[in-house]
Amino acid sequence: MTTRDIQRMERRVLDWDAHKIREDFPILKQTMNGVPLVYLDNAATTQKPQCVIDRLARFYSNENSNVHRSVYTLAEEATQSFEEVRKLTRAFIHAHDKKEIVFTKGTTEAINLVANTFGKSLQPGDEIILSELEHHANIVPWQMLAQERGIVIRVIPMLPNGDLDLDTFETLFTPRTKLLGIVHVSNTIGTINPVKKMVKVAHQYGVKVLVDAAQSIVHMTVDVQELDCDFLVFSSHKLYGPMGVGILYGKEEIMKKLPPYQGGGDMIRSVTFDHTEYADIPQRFEAGTPNVADVIAFGEALKYIRSLPVDSLIAYEHELFEYAYQGLEEIDGLGIVGKPHLQAPIISFMMEGIHPHDIATIISQSGVAVRAGHHCAMPTSRAFGIPATIRVSVAFYNTFAELDLLFNALNTVNKVFS
Ligand code: PMP
Repeated sequence: MTTRDIQRMERRVLDWDAHKIREDFPILKQTMNGVPLVYLDNAATTQKPQCVIDRLARFYSNENSNVHRSVYTLAEEATQSFEEVRKLTRAFIHAHDKKEIVFTKGTTEAINLVANTFGKSLQPGDEIILSELEHHANIVPWQMLAQERGIVIRVIPMLPNGDLDLDTFETLFTPRTKLLGIVHVSNTIGTINPVKKMVKVAHQYGVKVLVDAAQSIVHMTVDVQELDCDFLVFSSHKLYGPMGVGILYGKEEIMKKLPPYQGGGDMIRSVTFDHTEYADIPQRFEAGTPNVADVIAFGEALKYIRSLPVDSLIAYEHELFEYAYQGLEEIDGLGIVGKPHLQAPIISFMMEGIHPHDIATIISQSGVAVRAGHHCAMPTSRAFGIPATIRVSVAFYNTFAELDLLFNALNTVNKVFS
């Protein structure tokens, strides 16, 4: 989050027409259980604008061919469209060069890629630092590596309000620390971590940093040069693009030195039975046929987002967040989990004596879609001493009226259980 983003949040929105935006998202016109769908599970995945859906259909109807292989026109055009998205992605996160962008199948695969390449240089006794706010995707691959290579995982604890304990963070570095893996925005309680500051500290110790931007990418400006992170990962499907596409950004000078991830076609320069010479980055990390159609449609999502006024988008989401927060606090027996210093529009809560899964099931009858559970971040839930929460996460197409429907539905839950 930049200072500019904070100024944007403080701005009142005058020129955001969510009703007009909703016209771009066909699924939002649906009814669920006979009532309009109120989709408030955007942290799990965002809905797709028509232009993204159309782009997928257009690729398979008119352009389908494999990339990086053939010289006939159809294949050359597919390659060009595919590589155009690498350029768009570079610009979107302000990477220095398009070579620093690797397409994966999601955030999860991007982290596994780093664990299985960068991780191969780690020696027994080397240390990595993670935080108590991590998604399982930024825990389990490192744990697997720890078991395999005897490395040690150290954890930044969370304070009771859901911020990370930055004083303890600074004490975790030792001469054996090799990597900090840190989530930008917690998918459970919305904490916005001061990643830029944390990168600076890590670099003072010569430690590389991987930022999990799966949740931040959609709510704020993410500028990899400004953050100065070494790796950054996110998923297309949480940014209005298709599922099955992830992005790994890695600084060129680091990526160039990493071994390949998977072996196969497209990642080689030459192969004999004795020896393989690998391709340069980024192809070295993209073995086999990539997810061409979804990558190209992801490019359409990027163009769509970039066509929207970013100042208004951030300010509008922040207003939705404040409205949701206030409204939820007024519901009897409802307790919001965590109160971080800076919070993205993701709110977790509990209701006294009612199981989160029961809440989600009941309000689904009113068309309201929210997530109940541990949100793939069990250590975060455990730190709060709770097994599960309800999570509400908004997007720029949500409306204040939809939040009113959420509040009504939650009041109904209270009546059912009274
Ligand atoms: N990190 C965070 C913070 C997330 O929210 C998610 C998705 N819930 C992931 C990683 C994993 O993303 P994906 O399932 O798209 O690989």
